[in-house]
Amino acid sequence: MRAVENAWAELATRILNGRGENDPINAASSYCNAAHAAAIAARLAALESCRTALLMQPPDMLALRCHACSVATDSWARRETLSAALQRIGEVEEGATPWLESLPEPAPVDTAENPVVLVFDAVSADVWLCAQKALGENSLPFEWCRLGAEPRTIPALCALFDLDPADNPADVLPERGMDFQSIDGTESAAVTDLVAFDPKRPSVVHIAAFDRAAHAGARMRLCDMPAALAAMIERHVRPLETMCAKQKRPLVVTADHGLSWGKKGLTHGNGGVYERALFLAKNPPEAKA
Ligand SMILES: [Zn+2]
Repeated sequence: MRAVENAWAELATRILNGRGENDPINAASSYCNAAHAAAIAARLAALESCRTALLMQPPDMLALRCHACSVATDSWARRETLSAALQRIGEVEEGATPWLESLPEPAPVDTAENPVVLVFDAVSADVWLCAQKALGENSLPFEWCRLGAEPRTIPALCALFDLDPADNPADVLPERGMDFQSIDGTESAAVTDLVAFDPKRPSVVHIAAFDRAAHAGARMRLCDMPAALAAMIERHVRPLETMCAKQKRPLVVTADHGLSWGKKGLTHGNGGVYERALFLAKNPPEAKA
């Protein structure tokens, strides 16, 4: 097994150093123990995902970070695997800057039609992309925009609702006739069972799990977030789609800001594409003028 570990770690570092461009990796293992074979195949698949992401353009290329995190935090990885991953991610971030700058800032949420706005706290572009891939044909149609405000919860939420950056949305939104409620997101019940929605009032639901995980350190790795997000979309967004369609009100799904990943773990506040590129999913999508 040791030789297999070493060979994988060697290949991981080579790919993350950008030296595996042309050779697809066959994610299969002929190891006789089925559990071992599956674990090796999954590790090889992660390397192949890194390799193919490096061949893409932004925004798709941003998915590299989740795959590289899964490789670099693997128990088989070496210290140089993490250094190579962080180096490569830094290059991807830099390369994606023109794309980020080309994005529009989101227009503040229009409250006239009593929308339901689901805000995932601290979900980055790569986590969103990988979650959409996991959802397959059930993925949500969305567009990209660029957070203009400081990538922290309160200023970002204020920008989304056109509030003064010194305001606290939890206090000010109810004063303006909007419900503001917060859930963790990992509850087993759907948001429609956790929160009361008044059909006559716009409603904001803030989902705290990812930001909490980032600040709590080991609660969730970056590469564990896409599966958690996909599960939350299935659990919370599906019943909201049904409810909003019945009540003829728009549903908006977005994030306040994303997260940077580095030697100190997950942080936000310094900017960069993984903090500022925001997904914006609207149902029904706005009619193009
Ligand atoms: Zn936040």
